[in-house]
Amino acid sequence: MKKLPLALAAALCAASTAALASPDAAELQALRAAERQQHNLYRAYFPDVATGRKAAVSFHAQLVESAWKQGHLVFELLPHEVAELQRFGFLVVHAPDVVARRNRLLDRFDAAAAAAAKGPTAQTIPGFPCYETVEETFAAAEGMAAARPQLAQWLDIGDSWTKTQGAGGYDLKVLRLTNAAVAGDKPKLFVNAAIHAREYTTAPLALAFARWLFDNHGVDADATWILDHHEVHLLLQTNPDGRKRAEAGLSWRKNTNSDYCAGNSIGADLNRNFSFSWNSTGGSGSSGNPCDLTYRGPAPASEPETQAVETYIRSLFADRRGPGKNDAAPSDTQGLHIDLHSYSELVLWPWGDTAQPAPNGPALQTLGRRFAWFNGYTPLQSVGLYPTDGTTDGPSYGELGVPAYTFEMGTSFFQSCSAYTSTILPRNLPALIYAAKVVRAPYLLPGGPDVLDVAVSGPVVAGATAALTAQVTDTRFNQSNGSEATQAIVAADAYVGTPPWADGAVAVPLTAADGSFNSATEAVTGSLPTAGLTPGRHLVWVVGRDASGAAGPASAGWLQVGDVPTGITLDLQTAPGPRRRTTVALTWAGANGSRVDIHRNGALLRATANDGAYSQAVGSGQWTYQVCERGSSTACSPERTVSTPNAAR
Ligand SMILES: [Zn+2]
Repeated sequence: MKKLPLALAAALCAASTAALASPDAAELQALRAAERQQHNLYRAYFPDVATGRKAAVSFHAQLVESAWKQGHLVFELLPHEVAELQRFGFLVVHAPDVVARRNRLLDRFDAAAAAAAKGPTAQTIPGFPCYETVEETFAAAEGMAAARPQLAQWLDIGDSWTKTQGAGGYDLKVLRLTNAAVAGDKPKLFVNAAIHAREYTTAPLALAFARWLFDNHGVDADATWILDHHEVHLLLQTNPDGRKRAEAGLSWRKNTNSDYCAGNSIGADLNRNFSFSWNSTGGSGSSGNPCDLTYRGPAPASEPETQAVETYIRSLFADRRGPGKNDAAPSDTQGLHIDLHSYSELVLWPWGDTAQPAPNGPALQTLGRRFAWFNGYTPLQSVGLYPTDGTTDGPSYGELGVPAYTFEMGTSFFQSCSAYTSTILPRNLPALIYAAKVVRAPYLLPGGPDVLDVAVSGPVVAGATAALTAQVTDTRFNQSNGSEATQAIVAADAYVGTPPWADGAVAVPLTAADGSFNSATEAVTGSLPTAGLTPGRHLVWVVGRDASGAAGPASAGWLQVGDVPTGITLDLQTAPGPRRRTTVALTWAGANGSRVDIHRNGALLRATANDGAYSQAVGSGQWTYQVCERGSSTACSPERTVSTPNAAR
């Protein structure tokens, strides 16, 4: 694209994608009508949970719902697939109630489309307001790049199939996050989402991760060092053509290449189209029938989306793995690839095309069990009842030796917003943050302990010492599928100002708060020297080591040196409030970041938008307020106090 002023470019981009790419409303309605005619939904009762789980992997494309506690899965199946499940001991029965429920959902999308045709309405997914559309996703990423170009770039890496046909469609775009002010060759985390269009939660989670990093850089210590010293590359919409169909209520998985099949069965399964091990399993790991959900395409990387992803992955990572299936990548390999899918509540790693473990299998399993600790899913090598071939981990792990994972999040494709907001987002966001912390040595760091709750006293005058406390623990593995050995913590060190891996880093040894390092979880304390430090805020990294000799990923906190006023001001006003209470109105200025913490009487009251104003009604008493930058105990306003009367009127 030619260089245009950013705002103009964004406006043109939004206008052109909206006008050209929206699939025709009548066509979408016809496709919904066709989907209503599909009655092949079945409940399959598994003989045991382990077999059920393998079926969920092998029949991922056909899986419609999971009901593990009720002992069954719901699949959309062809007759030969019914027979295959029966052969593995499944009891397979028709599920007309699921068909009826699916049709009610399609009715809702028809009604929303009819309402939209009558007048301008907001472009959201009917009934799923928590999930950004393709256009909303692009606008959010574009907004970050425009607001802080030194932190965020919005890169065009290729075209969707429809765009290559000159019929609208989309660019494939990567949001690249890193602090350009810090130079160096930085380890890279690559996350792609929504390669399977109907998997609603995936693109919103990737965008939420982007927002967490972007909003918290300079505020949260971990977000700051992650973006200072790493690159995070997010392909937020890997299959935007297909996604538009899923946004219209269709259970759409593939891309929209109309050279294959017809009606609502067109397209290739992009996650069977990758070059590495394409069509390598004799037909069991992908389909050669263009109408099937797992159609692999006519040739390796035949689809433009696949080509863009492969080219981009090869541009990010060095080749650290030999050509043989059993050639291990060296343990100091950098980089990490996560492909976000739904659903099945699984964390998967290579190989998927053979039951034999990958040459880096033990290290892949260790990191998989770390991820699964956060999201509570089952950690598993990605081979089920059958192998799969041509998947996204081919270019990253298969070709280059970079560890690659698939998260199968949640329990349905059209996951409810309540489940996304209450469970899927809060459990998977920390897993992605952990990924960003280990990307410097993903085969080594997960073997070492985690550091939590880094807190540093202060502000301190330069030359004085600052007290540090933290927790170090080696216990955070998901042990639900086999068990990972944990060891006692044997040491922990702090590093002030210079990260532990950099030249000139100085380790400040910490001590066990209970007097000896002898258990898998230890509270640690130490005194940080501050002589020679400039006034202002400094990052402090803490790293733990366990009895296996492995050091884990760092966590960081802020050390505030000098009696430097933060420049955050706070004013309080009171007015009579509802029900004989008093309304206290806070106004502040000078805080960085998109959110602030409001403290009342020494305790965190709430985090709120950093829009300069917050009010609440209180009873009688004395109320001391303080506004701090999100997560900070040092970038705070002065404390302000009001006394409110006993307003018995
Ligand atoms: Zn998927």
